Amino acid sequence: MFNNLSDKLDKALHVLKGHGSITEVNVAETLKEVRRALLDADVNFKIAKQFTKTVKEKALGQDVLTTLQPGQLMVKIVKDELTQLMGGDAEGLNLSGTPSIILMSGLQGSGKTTFSGKLANYLKNKKTKKPLLVACDVYRPAAIDQLHVVGEQIGVEVFSDKGNNDPVAISQAAIAHAKANGHNVVIIDTAGRLAVDAAMMTEISNIHKAIQPQETLFVVDSMTGQDAVNTAKAFNDVLNFDGVILTKLDGDTRGGAAISIKSVVDKPIKFIGTGEKMEAIDVFYPSRMADRILGMGDVVSLVERAQEQFDEVEARKLQKKIAKNQFGFDDFLSQIQQIKKMGNMKDLMGMIPGAGKMMKDIDIDDDAFKGIEAIIHSMTPKERANPSIINASRKKRIGSGSGTSVQEVNQLLKQFNQMSKMMKMMQGGGGKKMMQMMKN
Ligand code: GDP
Repeated sequence: MFNNLSDKLDKALHVLKGHGSITEVNVAETLKEVRRALLDADVNFKIAKQFTKTVKEKALGQDVLTTLQPGQLMVKIVKDELTQLMGGDAEGLNLSGTPSIILMSGLQGSGKTTFSGKLANYLKNKKTKKPLLVACDVYRPAAIDQLHVVGEQIGVEVFSDKGNNDPVAISQAAIAHAKANGHNVVIIDTAGRLAVDAAMMTEISNIHKAIQPQETLFVVDSMTGQDAVNTAKAFNDVLNFDGVILTKLDGDTRGGAAISIKSVVDKPIKFIGTGEKMEAIDVFYPSRMADRILGMGDVVSLVERAQEQFDEVEARKLQKKIAKNQFGFDDFLSQIQQIKKMGNMKDLMGMIPGAGKMMKDIDIDDDAFKGIEAIIHSMTPKERANPSIINASRKKRIGSGSGTSVQEVNQLLKQFNQMSKMMKMMQGGGGKKMMQMMKN
């Protein structure tokens, strides 16, 4: 995420880092580089100019030249300003209605349908919410089918009316359906066009007036840079929406949209989309995003993602199995599946301070576990439950079944054994024993 911008800002600020004292000249030079980095990231020109002006004023106001670690102070000032620019505090959804109505707007292809599904899934996982998805794209039957597929995938009901070509009537009928069936959130996916056009604006504006949603969200593809900002402005003029959803931040996004959009429309970014999977949704925290842009990682979000996947009952079962030496490859497989649900590997690495920068040129395959999974799938249930029975001939069979070599099978078995031992030690409060083992 934002690798290029991170790199350039890092280089710009690096000049100041580690210097005991710096001059007004190299502060000016640094800020010029910062501005260039922002412009390259497709940040709006006026915003970039204002940004460096504010940073300079603050830096001089805080006597950055005479502090002990001017480089660090500058990084902090830049971080605080980036945070401010992206919205300051995180802003949640207004879910006060009964039901709460959320209207999605945005261009075709921006990721509206995908995000509607992600949001429904996110709210459903909160346990107190029972969402209803509504398909209001009356022009593209395929779009209605797509929402049904998504709904099925996440176990959320989808309301549609294929013969009906009046989106206002469909949304009203959907709200009535929600009230009658105990849905407390209604998420309405609307039709988009490839570019802003008057008919689309009239249609969404009519729906908006008729149903008066608590939340009108504007979904935008972050890859479109300055265009994203212009489209946001056009939609905001008509809808006066409540929040922005930035999608496709997992791609090679330059960052301009994330940084500029708040200042242009004065509406908060509420969520981000970081992948095609239903789990790839994050609340947008300006301060965490600023950390990531400055290469400081985002451990808080990483831990939160892990917690979302954490299931207390499953964890207890696992503990018992480990204690009884019954941890097998099926358990291992389900652990891998949980990690995969946390997001794509490169994105996860980017959340570890320093790792994102280190890994940026390494192509981490999202299917990093594919080989391991193939090997495990080639084992019989008996072998998975009791790996110690895997002898040479079994290894050969597993290798050819999974398209891997016997060495690869051996390696996995070795790793598995080490991991089982380590888990057992940690269970027995054997932290000390483990330290001992690591020393040896
Ligand atoms: P809509 O026309 O606005 O409803 O857009 P869709 O939801 O159909 O999304 C368009 C394409 O973008 C689809 O191929 C999605 O899988 C993809 N997409 C949506 N959100 C994301 C995201 O956060 N990351 C990535 N990589 N792809 C996304």
